[in-house]
Parts: sequence; structure tokens; C-alpha cells
Amino acid sequence: MKALCWQGTHDIRHETIPDPAIEHPRDVIVRVSACAICGSDLHLFDGFVPDMHKGDVMGHEFMGEVVEVGSQSKALRVGERIVVPFTISCGECDQCRRGNFSVCERTNRNAERASKMFGHPTAGLFGYTHLTGGYAGGQAEYVRVPFADTTHIKIPDGLTDEQVLFLGDIFPTGWQAAKQCDIQPTDTVAIWGAGPVGQMTVRSAILQGAKRVICIDRVPERLAMAAEAGAITIDFDQESVVEMLRDLTDGKGPDKCIDAVGLEAHASRSIDSMYDRAKQLVGAETDRPHVLREMIYVCRPAGILSIPGVYGGLIDKIPFGASMNKGLTWRMGQTHVQRWTDELVQLIAEGRIDPSFVITHTGTLADGPEMYKTFRDKKDGCIKVVLKP
Ligand code: NAD
Ligand code: ZN
Repeated sequence: MKALCWQGTHDIRHETIPDPAIEHPRDVIVRVSACAICGSDLHLFDGFVPDMHKGDVMGHEFMGEVVEVGSQSKALRVGERIVVPFTISCGECDQCRRGNFSVCERTNRNAERASKMFGHPTAGLFGYTHLTGGYAGGQAEYVRVPFADTTHIKIPDGLTDEQVLFLGDIFPTGWQAAKQCDIQPTDTVAIWGAGPVGQMTVRSAILQGAKRVICIDRVPERLAMAAEAGAITIDFDQESVVEMLRDLTDGKGPDKCIDAVGLEAHASRSIDSMYDRAKQLVGAETDRPHVLREMIYVCRPAGILSIPGVYGGLIDKIPFGASMNKGLTWRMGQTHVQRWTDELVQLIAEGRIDPSFVITHTGTLADGPEMYKTFRDKKDGCIKVVLKP
């Protein structure tokens, strides 16, 4: 089959590799009908996530048709159409039973290695680092879905691939980012990043009843898309984010702050980001936490910081004293995808949101290597890429 394989930093190739096969009775094989490139894939593309191996199949946002079913995967039949959550979950461990699917205790087959780094293993993830199990991803014609009886989302008839594909990642990610804020009707919610995750977060915060949503980025078409949903926008290249957020909140600061940027934050007019880049260059810091610093500084005391943006390792110069003394609450994590499935499928079915709004580019799997660059460089108005194998 054909697949998009990681061959090193900035090197994704469209290659021919062996078809996947059932390896365990709970597996199914899915023929992929649509997959997407996620901001998390860019962290791998740009070489910021450790423990990727040459030849790893990329992709954790995908859906398709079940073509082969292992003997213990009773919940699924050949021919069914499913979206696959990016988090592989067993459905039986303590964490899965609590709904904490992204920290499933049983699906990371490199649990020992992960424990050394993080203290505990986290769930297996598709198309991601070997620290999360090294499972082949879904930017491919076929994919093996382990623990498939508890790692799938069934799709009601009548909804297109484009409408439901993002149920596996960015839609629940935006939804959880907003949920972590316990949004009140009086809240001003500030969201850093107007990429695909930021876009889903803006709409989720509005659907969850925020009084006002402010979105920060510097890419005009991304800010325009956030404004279309009703967000006030700030261009961080043109304006001081801290000053603007203070002005917009009568000096109080946003009640809730969401980091939908993650470890590759950019910044203009800031010394701290030059410091991060220098330290990153010599390997003394893995991630660039500019947005975290800004959120701590500007968030209203007793507020909440919600962090869906991905961080991989070590960060430096975090004003923790400010955070402690202001009484800020931090909530973060990889998304517990299935926790939100039922309510999000309902929102789509009722027509209250159509997540396909975010798609700007569609191509074939062979277009993948070029599309990674287009998405990363935000060329040609690119906000979200969907590939059809
Ligand atoms: P993206 O790279 O397309 O979007 C990031 C956006 O942030 C870009 O538009 C960029 O211009 C903007 N940005 C950069 N620096 C900024 C700054 N200082 N202030 C404001 N905006 C800034 O990626 P995406 O697909 O939207 O993903 C965003 C993050 O969410 C990534 O870190 C990704 O890994 C993460 N993610 C997390 C989960 C999860 O489960 N928690 C799931 C999906 C994605
Ligand atoms: Zn993702």
C-alpha cells in the first residue's frame, strides 16, 4: 500500500510499504477514506518530538471503512464506516473507566520507556512517537486499529467524511480546551492560536456560552475565520497582546486563557522568544513557551489556563511565582477523545456546527509531502488539509 512515512526532520515521503494485517484478536483493519494533517504532525515534521524512527507511518486523524475484523472485536463489522480517535484506549483500565482515555494504562506498548521520561506511560497514539507506542498512523491506504472495539466512533448515516473526520481529534480537542475553562456566562475567554485547533476552540467556547471570545494570531485569513465565528481578534505582529487584552477587559485580564499554539510559538518584539530559540538551538530547552508566559502574566487572578497545545519536554523561565500568587488553575492534556463523542456527534447532526468549515486544501496521499510544507508555511491561505487516499 501507499503511506506517508517520516524519514527525518522536514522529510515526509509517499512510499510503498507492506499492507497492515491483524496482529491481535481486538484489531480491525480500516481502508482509509479521508485523513488530515494536524498541527501535532508538524511538531514531528519539524523534528521537535523525540523517538521517531525512519519509516514511521504518519497520521492520527483518519476515518474509513472496516475491511477486516479480529475475532474479539465484537463491536465492529466489515463494511462499517468509522472515525478513529487518535488516542488508543482499552476501555477497561482504571483511567478509561474514569473517561481519561488519553492516559489509558494499557495501550502504550513502550510503557517502560515512556515511564522513564514522564513518570508514567500515557495512551498509545497513532502515527506519533515511539514514546506513545510507535503505532503506524492513518496517512495511508490502510491502517491497523488496535483495541478497535473500544477505539472507534460510529458515524450516523447522512453525514459526509468532511463533517465527521475531525471528531477523531481537533473538534474534541477544541471542545475539551473550552470545557477545561468551566466557562461562565460572564467570562471573557482569550485563545492563542487560530490554527485548526484554535478555530474549533473559538466555536466551542461560544457554544459553551462565553460572553466574549478573543483570538490571537498573526495570519490574516486565520484571524478572519475566527472573526467570522464572532471572536474579537488580535494580530500579535501588529499589537501588544498584553496591552490589548488589558484594554479589552478594563484592565482586569481575561478570565480564562487557552494555549492552542504549543511548543513552536512564534513571537515578535519579545526577548524571551530569542532566548528560547537560542536555548533550543543548543539543546538546552526543547520547547518555546512564549504563550504560557503571556497567559500567566495577563490572566485575571483566580482564572484558568487551559493548554491543548502540545509540549514535549522541558521549558524554561516560567514565572511560576506569578501563577502561584495569582491563584491560577492549570488544566491540560492530550484529548480524551471518546469522552466528548456523543455530544459532538449530536451537535453536528443537529446542524449547530459543521466542522468542515476549516478545510481549505484537499489532495491525494501523493500530494502529502508537499501539503505538509504548505500547511506548515501557511502558504496559499492553508488552514486545514484533508487527504483522500
Ligand atoms: P497550527 O500550527 O496550524 O496552528 C498554530 C497557530 O498558532 C498558527 O496559526 C500560528 O500562527 C499561531 N501562533 C504561533 N505563535 C503564536 C503566538 N505567540 N500567539 C498566538 N498565536 C501564535 O496547529 P493546530 O493544528 O491548530 O494545533 C495547535 C496545537 O494544538 C499544536 O501544538 C498541536 O500539537 C496541538 N494539538 C493538541 C491536541 C491535544 O490532544 N491536546 C490535539 C490536536 C492538536
Ligand atoms: Zn492531532
